Amino acid sequence: MSKTIFQKIIDREIPAKLAHEDEHCIAIHDINPQAPVHVLVIPRRPIARVGEAKASDAALLGHLLLAAADLARKLGIAESGYRLVINNGRDGGESVPYLHVHLLGKRPLAWPPG
Ligand code: AMP
Repeated sequence: MSKTIFQKIIDREIPAKLAHEDEHCIAIHDINPQAPVHVLVIPRRPIARVGEAKASDAALLGHLLLAAADLARKLGIAESGYRLVINNGRDGGESVPYLHVHLLGKRPLAWPPG
């Protein structure tokens, strides 16, 4: 199966604007930002989507959320607020079949989402 864009970024085959990296994940600035802060937190271990995560992925899933909250503090949006989004499947708006958490902030975000 061909690599997804995020696998290529992790493998450093294509460039991205890095916001964070550690042993378990990387975070990059979204190429088509939907808010002044729009970062994607991506696990190094590939999982297609949250619906395919296993019990053995629990620690990694927790790590992604903690990394996103830490990034929100570093990017100065912890106080004003932010949104974490995981799109799953067609109706969820998933376009890249490689799990990632969107971190969006620095503007008021409407609810419900479109
Ligand atoms: P989703 O629709 O939840 O699968 O989100 C995929 C996200 O990846 C979208 O917000 C895209 O703008 C973003 N994206 C696609 N290609 C790149 C890239 N090369 N670098 C950074 N973000 C990307």
